[in-house]
Amino acid sequence: MNFESFNLHPSIMSGVRELGYVTPTPIQLQAIPPILQGQDVVGLAQTGTGKTAAFVLPILQRLLQGQRGCVRSLIIAPTRELAEQTHDTTQRLGKQTRLRSVTVYGGVNMTPQIQKLRGKAEIVVACPGRLLDHIRQKTVNLSHIEVLVLDEADRMFDMGFLPDIRKILKHLPAHRQTLLFSATMPDDIRRLAHDILRNPITVQINHTIPLTTVSHALYPVEHHHKNTLLMKLLKHPDTESILVFTRTKQRAMSVAQRLKKAGYIATSLQGNMSQNQRQAALDGFRKGSFKILVATDIAARGIDVSHISHVINFDMPDTVDAYTHRIGRTGRAAKTGDAFTLTTQNDNAMVRAIENTLGMKLERRKLEDFDYTSSSAHNTPAVPLQQSQRHHRRTGAKRAGSHMSSDSKPRYHRTSEKPFGKRRSSHAGHSSGSSVRKPHSSHS
Ligand code: AMP
Repeated sequence: MNFESFNLHPSIMSGVRELGYVTPTPIQLQAIPPILQGQDVVGLAQTGTGKTAAFVLPILQRLLQGQRGCVRSLIIAPTRELAEQTHDTTQRLGKQTRLRSVTVYGGVNMTPQIQKLRGKAEIVVACPGRLLDHIRQKTVNLSHIEVLVLDEADRMFDMGFLPDIRKILKHLPAHRQTLLFSATMPDDIRRLAHDILRNPITVQINHTIPLTTVSHALYPVEHHHKNTLLMKLLKHPDTESILVFTRTKQRAMSVAQRLKKAGYIATSLQGNMSQNQRQAALDGFRKGSFKILVATDIAARGIDVSHISHVINFDMPDTVDAYTHRIGRTGRAAKTGDAFTLTTQNDNAMVRAIENTLGMKLERRKLEDFDYTSSSAHNTPAVPLQQSQRHHRRTGAKRAGSHMSSDSKPRYHRTSEKPFGKRRSSHAGHSSGSSVRKPHSSHS
């Protein structure tokens, strides 16, 4: 089955072609037809499955007909990054349709948003809090909404947005199409879906999707060896773009800082950064000017960088869900990727839970030339969690290596180690030129 079978308008099909989509993903195959028919849909699919286009394409098709210049579709997302991402997809797929989309989220000045809303967009992609501000100030009119999307509903619930969402719903026409996308279905989301959707069709994409495209591996290690092990893993030349996850904002900052000092082109993405800093980090990572992004779960929500080759969990996530979300960043849309997790003894229960959910045992790997027994004095010590939590210095999205000292400059010897294991053929073409280390002369 191909995109032609959806009978989308030629102006939309040109966007599909421009984005290089040839075959619809499973969620698109299942969700697009009922959404085109105007049905309410619950989509159980995580990020990386193509869910955004699954709702954006039918929305564009619907909005081509009817009034222009008023907000007819509202997409609510948990984070600004996801909102920007969805807006970007909407603009690119709808480029030839002349339908307009605007984003609305907190952390930035309201005035430009008000001006854009006055500019008569048909689609608003919003985070709940700031949207409520606009509703209260009467700077957005939602009385013409025909399609509402709640994207990543489980994450909105995790972030405490459900009360805001219920408030927003009071300002929408009761007669509308509602689409709810969520990776999981906790009871509160089930209740919400029951309350606000009418006879919804449920489409479900198997949670095992990352399994088919991502190779998982665990690297058991003592906590104080984590930084050294991370550096070892990063030495492998066969990498394009690496997303490193930490448990806290402070650790994201300190790990990124440490990588920069070691000469890597890295930055962090965490909640203490201003919106501009976050956007700069994301844009830099997307364009490839930062090869490594160290992020927390919440900050990384919605990151869509199609060339991420490795996700490295510096810290084990707190839930199985967070694990699948994190690794959903690599292996996106049927590309292959690697997901590595540094685990300590404290993570054993979570490892078991992940293995149970995935239905398979994860490979344990040990680097042959890594001294697992050395004391922290012989290794670059990891910042202990408590200490790093007190470490409030903000590093933001500073240029990588801007304060690189001479003794922290990287050594550029080629390593024969293969910490990344046997590569799949899709990566075979990568030369050492794609190594994540920066060249000698750059970024002074
Ligand atoms: P999403 O799950 O919406 O975040 O999408 C994940 C990635 O898959 C994005 O980079 C999309 O541009 C890409 N994508 C979505 N649909 C398709 C498709 N049918 N073919 C190829 N790539 C796609």
